[in-house]
Amino acid sequence: MPTSLHDLTFDELRAVLVADGLRPAHGATLWNALQYRAETDLGLRTDFVPPLRRWLELRLGTDYVLDRPEIATHTLSGDDLTQKYLLRLSDGQEIETVIMGYPGRYTACISTQAGCAMGCVFCATGQMGFVRHLRPGEIVAQVHHARRVLKERGERLRNLVLMGMGEPLHNYDHVMKALGILSDTRGANIGPSKISISTVGVVPGILRMAEENSPYNLAVSLHGSTQEERAALIPANQRWPLVELIAACRTYGEKTGRRIFFAWTLIAGVNDSPEHAARVAALLKGLDAHVNLIPLNETAGYAGRESVETAADVFQGIVQAAGIPCTIRQRRGIDVAAGCGQLKADRKRAGSRQLEKA
Ligand code: SAH
Ligand code: SF4
Repeated sequence: MPTSLHDLTFDELRAVLVADGLRPAHGATLWNALQYRAETDLGLRTDFVPPLRRWLELRLGTDYVLDRPEIATHTLSGDDLTQKYLLRLSDGQEIETVIMGYPGRYTACISTQAGCAMGCVFCATGQMGFVRHLRPGEIVAQVHHARRVLKERGERLRNLVLMGMGEPLHNYDHVMKALGILSDTRGANIGPSKISISTVGVVPGILRMAEENSPYNLAVSLHGSTQEERAALIPANQRWPLVELIAACRTYGEKTGRRIFFAWTLIAGVNDSPEHAARVAALLKGLDAHVNLIPLNETAGYAGRESVETAADVFQGIVQAAGIPCTIRQRRGIDVAAGCGQLKADRKRAGSRQLEKA
């Protein structure tokens, strides 16, 4: 199996070239082209010094490859503020990458796995099942795709959220390596404080982030306020029960001193009553928490419906009254991406507005 150059950190890339007799500076040149400039066709770089060009001719395509996903589809949201890309990986797997936001404030929402093993009933990705983990280079390449798209418009990517397909903490090592590469100031240079990892509640992963004093933001998808209620929506709650999850969040908060963002997808008649809101407030008491309420994106595989606006307002009021900041997300930006997995599901039903086909 050839190694992807996008899988490598700055030091690793340099070591590869040095081992083949090149100078360390050539490693920096190649890193700059791949990770800073997000170039995909190194053959165009006729300005590379002859030893580097020879190395690429000899080794690229045989021992080493690049991660250059193809665009399978490109979809614009109704409000034109969100662009969803379905990207095809080298083995044909398709994953979602979303660019959302406003001039000066763009965020990419990226995938960490093809499919997902966690099986949340309301989630289009969960309904698909697990296919495989993404390599670091496949995670990194999604960000470079977004950076290239924005660069063409004279814009820069500022923020990154791991809220696409897959459970990031189920693919911990590859995800953390990718984020190390992406936050490297010599590359994409996305500051760790601009990066958010969203998890369904993989307790060992949260504890590891606490232990390592991980510099990224943590978002926990809660959606249920009792063991039974949460398990009905999120099968993974059987493996990592709600009490253990909250205990892990407390450990994380104490060790890192960082605020945790809790996502709550509002489903009409399922988890959107004032009693639910009161239980959420009680559950999170004493934690430095922020609750994000997200309207359900209805999916073909789940009968649940989006809450009415008044229910969301009442819910928000109760959580806020308990002293916990609480925001209702609109159905755009991050919230359209919260329905990640839907583009792929939609495509199967050929229901989406497609702009491009590879
Ligand atoms: N696996 C991680 C990250 C990807 S899912 C996690 O579960 O946190 C990102 C967010 O989208 C999660 O909060 C998830 O609960 C939410 N989500 C998934 N499907 C959704 C849907 N149909 N409507 C609204 N939110 C959804
Ligand atoms: Fe996986 Fe997150 Fe979807 Fe649950 S909500 S199935 S953890 S991607």
